[in-house]
Amino acid sequence: MDVSIIAVGTELLFGQTVNTNASYLSNKLNLMGFNVMYHFVVGDNQGRLQAVINRAMTDSDIMVFTGGLGPTQDDLTKETVASAMGVPLVRDQECLKEIEDFFKSRGHDMTENNYKQADLPEGCTVFHNKVGTAPGFGLDVNGKIAICLPGPPREMTWMFEHCARPFLEDYSHRAMCYRVIRTIGIGESELETVLLPLIDEQQDPTIATYAKEGECTLRIASQRDDPAEALRAVDEMTGLVTKLIGKYIYSYEDKPLNQVVVEKLIERGITISCAESCTGGKFAASITDIPGASGVFSHGAVTYSPQAKMDVLGVKKDTLERYTVVSRETAIEMARGIRMSSGSDISVSITGVAGPDPSDGYPAGTAYIGYSYGNREGCMKVSTGRGSRRWNRHYFTLRMFKIVNEILDNAVEESEEIPDRGENE
Ligand code: AMP
Ligand code: MG
Repeated sequence: MDVSIIAVGTELLFGQTVNTNASYLSNKLNLMGFNVMYHFVVGDNQGRLQAVINRAMTDSDIMVFTGGLGPTQDDLTKETVASAMGVPLVRDQECLKEIEDFFKSRGHDMTENNYKQADLPEGCTVFHNKVGTAPGFGLDVNGKIAICLPGPPREMTWMFEHCARPFLEDYSHRAMCYRVIRTIGIGESELETVLLPLIDEQQDPTIATYAKEGECTLRIASQRDDPAEALRAVDEMTGLVTKLIGKYIYSYEDKPLNQVVVEKLIERGITISCAESCTGGKFAASITDIPGASGVFSHGAVTYSPQAKMDVLGVKKDTLERYTVVSRETAIEMARGIRMSSGSDISVSITGVAGPDPSDGYPAGTAYIGYSYGNREGCMKVSTGRGSRRWNRHYFTLRMFKIVNEILDNAVEESEEIPDRGENE
């Protein structure tokens, strides 16, 4: 069955509030086997809401509303939905009592406009709100279904799980299964080109690629009557995709790269340290974002100035003078220095130009990432070709994780020397 999600609230159109309800509901409803066809966002205005409802009712079987259920003048979702579906509002005594109790338990007086919250479309299934005051509802009028949920995400998610989901389960006869695969090192256009034979023939499962910041994501989805069959179809397609692009895949579970790396380190009992310059500690911060990082990470160093690189990491003055601070030699000495002082199994370092301006004759977006593990040392040059400081620092950090991930995949299992990636990325 086709679904429209309709978010009501002028604050959404102003950009004050991000429409997180829509992404939450889309995700859940797709997994339940519904086809989410449209997202609408409309302000607190009866005429425009009416127009959106007319459109949504024509194009979908189920409309899921969020927002505008509150007590104030601008909350008019219920009234408009009820009138569009040709049903009057009636005061629900049980809801009224719940709202009265809510205020009593908090020692607040109930204002006149709060009574309005107990007015609900005749014949609806009431969704009692146990985490706030505004009740929601499900309404089926001759096969057209309206679901109304509160706007605040905490109340909306609670009511979806406890009330709307059970209500909608009667209408869902299909099951959706999907897998999000994360890749790094391949661009979206190349990814699509390589997968084109699969994408061209797709009916079910479907394959879609998405470019994220510095990496690409792939979604494989199947919708079948039998959930086990949908899973089998997704597994089969995952196998085909892996054959084509396996070396770029770092997660089959939609996990970010820092999490994948830290979990591998923890699982294998391998320790890591880092010496950062232009990323200013972003790598260390991303390591410590992951629970359990303390078991594998004792410290990192942020050595921003050349002097600090000498004092803290033991980078030689001669190296800085001969090769400059942004060089593979400096990066390798940084990695060596932090590994020696920390005693970690692996170390990774970075020295480069975050931008927006060039530095030391290097364009913005140039960095050298050094590494040291076992009896091996190496370096990779990264050139983003961009001036954006935010982007460069993000991309550099991602690349540091990519190298560590490769060290873990190749070196630990096969003890192979990582090839020198030379001057080209
Ligand atoms: P309302 O139910 O319209 O009074 O909304 C109450 C509050 O819920 C708003 O001020 C927002 O902070 C939040 N909210 C409403 N709609 C959304 C939405 N679609 N996504 C995220 N938050 C929302
Ligand atoms: Mg509102």
